[in-house]
Amino acid sequence: MFAEVIINSNARALNKVFDYIVPIGMENTIKIGSRIFVPFGRGKKLEDGFVINLKEKSEFANKEIAKIEEENSISEDKITLAKLMARKYFCNVSDCIKLMLPPGTGGKELENRAKEKKGNFVFLKKEKDEIDFLIENEKIKSEKHIRVLKFLEENDGVYISDLEAITEVSKAIFKTLEKNGYIEIVEKQIERNPFIHKDIKKDNPKKLNEEQKKCFDSIAFCIDNNEFSKHLIYGITGSGKTEIYLQLIQKVIEKGKTAIVLVPEISLTPQMVDRFLARFGDIVAVLHSKLSIGERYDEWQKIAKGNSKIVIGARSAIFAPVNNLGIIIIDEEHDMSYKSDMTPRYNAKDLAKYIAEKNNCPLVLGSATPEINTMYLAKNNDISMYTLTKRANNAKLPEVEIIDLRNELALGNRSMLSFKLQNEIEKNFKNKKQTILFLNRRGYSTFIMCRECGYVAKCKNCNISLTYHIRENKLKCHYCGFETNAVKECPECGSKKVKYFGTGTQKLEDEIHKLYPEASTIRMDIDTVSKKNSHEEILDKFKNENIDILIGTQMVVKGHHFPNVTLVGVVTADGSLNLDDYRAVEKTFQTLVQVAGRSGREEQGKVIIQTYNPDHYAIIDSQKQDYDLFYNQEIKLRKMLNYPPFCDIILIRFLGKNLQEIQKISNLVYKKILSVKEENINIYKPVASPIDKIKNKYRWRIIVKCKLTSRVLDIINYGIEDENIKKCKETSIVVDINPNNMN
Ligand code: ADP
Ligand code: ZN
Ligand code: ZN
Repeated sequence: MFAEVIINSNARALNKVFDYIVPIGMENTIKIGSRIFVPFGRGKKLEDGFVINLKEKSEFANKEIAKIEEENSISEDKITLAKLMARKYFCNVSDCIKLMLPPGTGGKELENRAKEKKGNFVFLKKEKDEIDFLIENEKIKSEKHIRVLKFLEENDGVYISDLEAITEVSKAIFKTLEKNGYIEIVEKQIERNPFIHKDIKKDNPKKLNEEQKKCFDSIAFCIDNNEFSKHLIYGITGSGKTEIYLQLIQKVIEKGKTAIVLVPEISLTPQMVDRFLARFGDIVAVLHSKLSIGERYDEWQKIAKGNSKIVIGARSAIFAPVNNLGIIIIDEEHDMSYKSDMTPRYNAKDLAKYIAEKNNCPLVLGSATPEINTMYLAKNNDISMYTLTKRANNAKLPEVEIIDLRNELALGNRSMLSFKLQNEIEKNFKNKKQTILFLNRRGYSTFIMCRECGYVAKCKNCNISLTYHIRENKLKCHYCGFETNAVKECPECGSKKVKYFGTGTQKLEDEIHKLYPEASTIRMDIDTVSKKNSHEEILDKFKNENIDILIGTQMVVKGHHFPNVTLVGVVTADGSLNLDDYRAVEKTFQTLVQVAGRSGREEQGKVIIQTYNPDHYAIIDSQKQDYDLFYNQEIKLRKMLNYPPFCDIILIRFLGKNLQEIQKISNLVYKKILSVKEENINIYKPVASPIDKIKNKYRWRIIVKCKLTSRVLDIINYGIEDENIKKCKETSIVVDINPNNMN
């Protein structure tokens, strides 16, 4: 017997499948998914890997599998899923398997750690993008350095000995990396239970209201009958969706089964986790990227051993090693984070459907503003829908007002805050109430231009303008991390008429300080949030110290509960409206509704939306907080323009430093697909992406619009798999199905 094996190496990217001989004595125990150890290359040390297939013949096998280890094996289902993903998302099986492995390899090291009290943890000191950029441009060359940094990109906050064992480099390397400013070594308490500091009161099920009960009964029926089924709970924030999830899970647990709950970004929704802990205690496991690798390893083991029955986590928690799954719940199902922007570019919602079907259990989606695609399926009876119209605690919806920014200029107001919003902020502040100001751009000024010659400060690596950061007095690129000193004189013509335009969160904060010197403020954006728990720290501070004004980007939108916030100001609602993306309008609407939901959770709240497009339906409908109205307008447009849900969008992206080669290859792919394309497939000529250079790499794209079928996957694959393309080594091709980002 022979086994097809994938070497599991976090450190080295080995993506090939290798054939090994299965020794006679192992034939009865070996399975697809078994974790094995094999001799590899010239090294004496055994490498660990996984069996992805067993077969009777092999032309290549010449070495035997040395050892088999039952613990940490992957189920055969997972291997099947990995293979399916590799085909659907155009990536390697091993990339997919990595998502299904316990965090970190060599679990023994991690297990020993449980006994210690304090230790040194390693964190990345620079942004992931910046590190990648330095590596690509050979500013960081050492293979060992790269190995460590790459590992930290995926597992920030690793115990130093774990890092040593996993990446197989010595501590001296860490010292060098620390000296060069790439990493930081911090002594920390070893906290093996991430929730130990929380003091959570036990909470009991509530008596469901009629709407909730109808929904509960219908899904409970499917649980009782082990029936795969899809459900959408459509209800505004506070209408009792989470209470239904909790009671459905209760039922699943009573049947001896397990549950997976996906939430957008768990560090942004600590209150959600608290409610699960309050109801179910320590049978809850939490998986998310802000846990240290040791903590994640612990959670993973608790799940695999069956001690945890409920898994809550972000996107990748869909791969948690649960047994006997009884329900999958996806909260805030419209959230973009369920789709991965990195290889493998999977959509957790699609996978959840597949996994629920395999496990004969219900899939439950919940949202106040469902994704247009989901609502379309619900309206066409592909998903059962339940509408919750009442807020369980009778809180009122906020009053929303729209301000036309074009009038402000006419009134002589040059500030980014309309007179109306200024008044409201002042009033709120005097009443000792809290305010949230939302602006989706960080930094100080977002555009720097010479008024004499038209020069615009752009990143030297990306075709994008630089943002001014006043605290460091630097111009920064938000795509690659490039920084340069701020300029007073035009580098092109020497003129002093260099002007800084546009507003980011830093400038907004300064303006607020000028207008209301006594008001306390706190800012939340990528520049102020870092390290573990820091999100929570900023929000806790805002809440507990009763800070007057929170200024923030997208991060402030998610479901926190601030009882004392009675005013929310959207500084500009237009940011994403004009993007070259069919979902831009949908995103704008969802964000506005969500931000508005932050105001007046207990008392009557007020929301002010500032915009240059007051007549746009996304703005008007968000003022009315009317999703149905929005849906009806949006779906008509989608149909007219043949956009999802009426088709899928396949983006074939070409990246590289050699523009001629990119053009050549993209044309080749285009012609190949054209030659075999069928009637229902629309393919558009290769063109430069809207931002056509990022990190010194040019970007071109081909868009294909059609229903994604197995046949279409074959056609795309035929298009990109080609000997002539393989010869062109400078260009890489990425296929992204219904991408978040069309660039
Ligand atoms: P959603 O998830 O839709 O935002 P929640 O489930 O969080 O709504 O409910 C909002 C609040 O109302 C919570 O404090 C919850 O405990 C409470 N609640 C929900 N359902 C009921 C009910 N049937 N009876 C009493 N309180 C409820
Ligand atoms: Zn100039
Ligand atoms: Zn850049």
